[in-house]
Amino acid sequence: MVFKDKCYTTGITGITSEGLGVGSVNGFVVFVEGALPGEEVLIQINQVKKSYAKGKVVEILKSSTDRIKPFCGVYGRCGGCDLQHLDYDAQLRAKTGFVKDNLIRIGKLPDVTVNNTIGMENPFNYRNNVQLPVRKGANKSSIGFFAAKSYEIIEGTECRIQHKIGNGIRNVLSDFLVKNGISVYDEQTGKGNVRHLIVRSAFSTGETMVVLVINERKLAEKEKLVNALTSEFPEIKGIMLNINSKRTNIVLGNEYINIYGESTITDYIGDFKFQISPASFFQVNPVQTEVLYKKALEYASLSGNEIVFDLYCGIGTISLFLAQKAKMVYGVEVVPDALKAAKRNARINKVSNVEFRLGKAEEVIPAMYCQGIKADVVVVDPPRKGCDERLLQTIVEMEPRRMVYVSCNPSTLARDLKYLSEYGMKVEEVQPVDMFPWSGHVEAVILLQRAER
Ligand code: SAH
Repeated sequence: MVFKDKCYTTGITGITSEGLGVGSVNGFVVFVEGALPGEEVLIQINQVKKSYAKGKVVEILKSSTDRIKPFCGVYGRCGGCDLQHLDYDAQLRAKTGFVKDNLIRIGKLPDVTVNNTIGMENPFNYRNNVQLPVRKGANKSSIGFFAAKSYEIIEGTECRIQHKIGNGIRNVLSDFLVKNGISVYDEQTGKGNVRHLIVRSAFSTGETMVVLVINERKLAEKEKLVNALTSEFPEIKGIMLNINSKRTNIVLGNEYINIYGESTITDYIGDFKFQISPASFFQVNPVQTEVLYKKALEYASLSGNEIVFDLYCGIGTISLFLAQKAKMVYGVEVVPDALKAAKRNARINKVSNVEFRLGKAEEVIPAMYCQGIKADVVVVDPPRKGCDERLLQTIVEMEPRRMVYVSCNPSTLARDLKYLSEYGMKVEEVQPVDMFPWSGHVEAVILLQRAER
């Protein structure tokens, strides 16, 4: 047993994707905030559940050689980077471990090759998209991040994972709101105007888009704001207001008003061009996205004669990559706006051997299969909850030669690979890619081949 508020010593043997060290007290699993594998720590228990407890470090008795000093002043308070106390190479090893552990524990696949996680050469300023809540600070308007699991605003400090321009624009806006007495939103009363700042940047072209989410329909001094921002940041290609008058924690409303320049920015992944509008989904780490997609294309090993399915295709990025080497690609996506963007992206890149279908993959694919449309190679890139079993069932019936699974969640990945390998697809290789340095998130690309019978 362990008891709340009592102190214990434990050795730490693992780390979770939330950055919690895994220890054990009297045979009970304890998750310890801030502790690293290999360490001996004195902890105080702050939560006891049926099968585990949680605690925090009181003293590090023996420190890990992988422990580093977090670079950010608000580390531990901001909800952003859980693994900042862990050396970057050790983070990559931990991420490989997350994938392996899930494959063994959930996937019952102990023998699969998991390659080392591909990391970034420079794991800083990698995010192309930042959303910052705008709220009242102690004496002035503040623009900051929400603290972990709360709505406390963390002000100031330069964020090292977002593109530098995001920090710069935040500072200019913050000064501007204070100097011009422009009101900011108050969650308690639902009053006040400016709610969020969104900055999106295209790394390949430098183009930047600014969106201010406001509560009222108008913004005072908007011409002055446009001047203040564009004179300092010539990279800004467009500025938009987004109207959100609802008392909700959903960031964006439905209506946009353009107050400067264009409503889209252009970015490239590989040779393909993408037009990004304020609400479009676009991978947030463009450098590693290219690494991920190249791996997916390599695993698909297309010769030019294949029919390929790209399921959960979003705005069609992977579909376009695949189409270069396939006979025909069918993309399936459930969000109408994303599908529209996918069609437009195919058009502007002059790719004609791709067709997009709207709907849930688990409904569209069985229907296509009934009509006799089968894939030689299937690529899936589902959201965190993984693939629906109805989809996996149809895929195994279809008996594709190869399948490439792109995953952002090792546990649902392991569940799906278990199913697929039980029904005739063999997991050949797993390649984790680090898209989110300093956080516990890990993406992985997996190659499956039809097992010989
Ligand atoms: N492959 C894309 C997007 C991956 S994100 C890229 O790399 O950019 C996952 C996508 O799956 C999202 O666009 C989401 O809208 C879509 N989606 C979620 N559930 C779905 C379902 N049941 N069927 C089809 N698409 C789905």
